[in-house]
Formats: sequence, structure tokens, C-alpha cells
Amino acid sequence: MSVAATAEPMIAMRGVNKWYGTYQVLTDVNLAVRASEKIVLCGPSGSGKSTLIRCINALETYQKGEIVVDGFHLGDQGKTIDAVRREVGMVFQQFNLFPHMTVLENCTLAPIRSRGIPRARAEETARRLLDRVKILNQADKYPAQLSGGQQQRAAIARALCMEPKVMLFDEPTSALDPEMVKEVLDTMIGLATDGMTMICVTHEMGFARQVADRVIFMAEGRIVEEAEPETFFRTPQHERTRKFLGEIL
Ligand code: ADP
Ligand code: MG
Repeated sequence: MSVAATAEPMIAMRGVNKWYGTYQVLTDVNLAVRASEKIVLCGPSGSGKSTLIRCINALETYQKGEIVVDGFHLGDQGKTIDAVRREVGMVFQQFNLFPHMTVLENCTLAPIRSRGIPRARAEETARRLLDRVKILNQADKYPAQLSGGQQQRAAIARALCMEPKVMLFDEPTSALDPEMVKEVLDTMIGLATDGMTMICVTHEMGFARQVADRVIFMAEGRIVEEAEPETFFRTPQHERTRKFLGEIL
């Protein structure tokens, strides 16, 4: 049964702890994200934001606790990990497009290889999604021929081609020139409006105010504070949060 038909959240993290060697990077992380909910995750560099979202699509393992994505328990190896990766799209700071493939080929590779979708149909879907992120006219170019903003939108389209139920964004605008930030944020706002479940690691607080249902602040591997944007920005409860907001706003 899909989570839409149950009370179970789309993403549930319960008591998650993770160590890199002896260094504890996540401590007792509890997080429930409902279908269609939009979360902005922020916090100082090194606080564990990337690690947290990488755990959700099994790019990282964890040692204690439980993560369930759309009913799949990540602790179960093998098939579960493949299933979760198909359901969870990820967009990185550094685009991570395959440089030797055109934008269209970047978008069709995984659907053809790992979902067995016929090429013609994969290309049709890819063109539709490239149109949605407004770079259909770049489909036959190679990543290096695109601007940073176009590359990031291509990366978003590539993730969408797998028809994910959840999209994870890890500082998707941090590597962009300022004039390209808006086109990527607008793409993300469009996705949010269409009802995508999203966790966005970003320090774009205007985006957080406009889109987030909840803002979550992390420090030193723990979730320190979470609230609706209005409350989060107006009346942060913790000294650590106030200091962070003072530094970035
Ligand atoms: P953030 O995304 O909030 O900047 P990260 O999740 O990237 O934080 O990193 C959290 C902490 O874990 C940092 O101290 C970082 O140096 C450490 N870390 C990240 N990845 C690894 C790794 N593969 N091995 C060891 N330490 C790591
Ligand atoms: Mg990070």
C-alpha cells in the first residue's frame, strides 16, 4: 500500500545515529516527513546536513536507529536500496552530470538501464521534463556547453525522469553565480507547487519562507530546532539558532 493511503509518513527517521569511525556525525535524529511536505534543512557547515539526507537514499549507511521511506525499511539490504533509490531523487551542489553524455542522454540513462523503459518512451519523458525546467532547447548539448543554472536544471530534470516520490536537494544553488540562483529556485518552487515531497538543504531563506512547511536547524549532528518558517525566523528558540541566523541573514 502506498503511504498516501496510510498515516505513515513518506520519510521516517527514528533514533538515527551515525559514526564516521569514532566521530559521531548524527545523534538521535528523529524526523517524519509527510507526503507533499516541504522541509528546508539548514545549519552550520559540518553539522551533518549532507550526511542526513544521504542516509535517506542509502548513499550512506547508519549504525543505529531506523529509516523508512515510503514503507521501505532501509536496514533491509539489497532490493530495498534499489527500490528506495528509484523513489528518491537527489540533486547535488556540483550538478554531477555525466560530462561525456548529452543532456538528453543524461536524462534517459537511468530510466533505460535501471527501469527498463524503452528508449523512445524515455526520450519522450525526458523532453517533457526538460521543457518543464525550461531547457528543452539544450537537450542535445553536453554539460560543459551549458551555464551552471542550466546544468543544475538538467540535473533536476534527470532526477525527475525516474519519477521519484521524494526529491532531496543538497545546497543546489551554492555553486551557482548569483544571477543563476533564481532560475534554479524557481524550478524548485514549481516542483513544490506541484506537490512534490522535498527536503532541501539550503541557506536561501527567501525560498524557505516561501516554500517550506517546516524549517529544521541542525548543529553538531543533532536537530536543534524545527518550526514553521514564520515562527522559525521571528522567534528562534535556541541561542545556537539565533547565532546562525545572525550570521546568514
Ligand atoms: P554539512 O553538510 O552540514 O556541512 P556533512 O554531513 O557534510 O555536514 O559533514 C558532517 C561532519 O562529518 C563533518 O565534520 C565532516 O567533516 C564529517 N564527514 C563527512 N563525510 C565524512 C566521511 N566520508 N568520512 C569522515 N568524516 C566525514
Ligand atoms: Mg553539506
